[in-house]
Amino acid sequence: MFSSNTRTLVVVGAQWGDEGKGKLVDVLAEGADWVVRYQGGANAGHTVHIGDRSFVLHQIPSGILHPGVRCAIGNGVVLDPDTLFTEIDGLVRDGVDVEGRLYVSDRAHLVLPYHKLVEQGAAHAEAQLNRFRSSKRVNCAETIAMLERLGERLLPLAEDVGLVMHRAVRSGAAVLLEGAQGSLLDIDHGTYPFVTSSNTTSGGAAVGAGIAPTDIDAVLGVVKAYTTRVGAGPLPTEMDDPLAGQIRTLGNEFGATTGRPRRCGWFDAVVVRYAARINGLTDLAVTKLDVLDTIEKIAICIGYEYEGELHEEFPADLTAQERVVPRYEWLDGWREPTADCRHIDELPSAARRYLDRMQELVETPITYVSVGTKRDQIIGKGLGTRD
Ligand code: GDP
Repeated sequence: MFSSNTRTLVVVGAQWGDEGKGKLVDVLAEGADWVVRYQGGANAGHTVHIGDRSFVLHQIPSGILHPGVRCAIGNGVVLDPDTLFTEIDGLVRDGVDVEGRLYVSDRAHLVLPYHKLVEQGAAHAEAQLNRFRSSKRVNCAETIAMLERLGERLLPLAEDVGLVMHRAVRSGAAVLLEGAQGSLLDIDHGTYPFVTSSNTTSGGAAVGAGIAPTDIDAVLGVVKAYTTRVGAGPLPTEMDDPLAGQIRTLGNEFGATTGRPRRCGWFDAVVVRYAARINGLTDLAVTKLDVLDTIEKIAICIGYEYEGELHEEFPADLTAQERVVPRYEWLDGWREPTADCRHIDELPSAARRYLDRMQELVETPITYVSVGTKRDQIIGKGLGTRD
């Protein structure tokens, strides 16, 4: 997607996360000079499959898997330094050269063991009530000793990432800003309170990388050909079993970090059109089309029925989000494998009709279609080209 006009590109999830951003970033990193993570923390996980090998990355941008691409962790990331070094050491063991290619913003906040302790306590209502009478104590001396130990490795990576990125943008470098989670988990625009604690949408990319919003040239929204969500919260198009179980198995819909089964639903054009608006999506990447290969009839949600009316915009009200009844349009499935397709014309005509309807409803052109976990299982124009 990089061209003379597109030098700074944001990749965001346009559903509830796990859309396959890692794969798209990996593909696009081929043409990038820099890949920057701008929000989230160690709880986010991308899985990238290269040949027979799989890499799960939590904090390090997946661009690290491309030799020569430089990677930065922006100020918007809440950095767990202990996990960072476990991740670095793992990559080095797997033969990935990290030395001199990874920068950490000197403004990033650190997550330390006592933060986790507090959060674990507050998971239980009783503990939350008794919080200030908890028998657990933070050992300051131990925390300082830990920071001194980690500091020896962390400080050499520390940089003014905002300044470095500003210079990179000015010099015309191809910069990829890598989002974590998804737009519907955005603290302001998502399905609050079932959200994350940061702005996952493209506005957060400028803030979290320390660059200006006007530096961003394009925003690629990644969506699955269906919908998934982890944990509680509204999911209007949620499927019933046995179909949900079938899609979960076919799509391997289990969390990369926690192994938690993901809830599955039909593609929700109301949600993605909303994501297109709040992110300013210029392009869409549809992943996991292959997962629907065996499904006979495929639904797309085109609106919500609520209190006797049809709504085409995603509501802010949580009660409405929970109670809306999706209005579906049913399309024929293609019932043939797509994993070997490498050009849009090679896709079965029913799959093309499904994608056409999707881009029409979302009002955003589809630039990439992913048909498998592997790096080369992708259909797209201008794949990661440097000009
Ligand atoms: P991310 O955080 O958005 O990168 O998503 P995850 O890594 O949690 O989940 C995406 C999973 O889907 C990974 O295991 C990918 O390898 C896999 N994946 C990505 N694209 C495709 C695709 O087109 N088809 C299939 N079957 N799997 C895919």
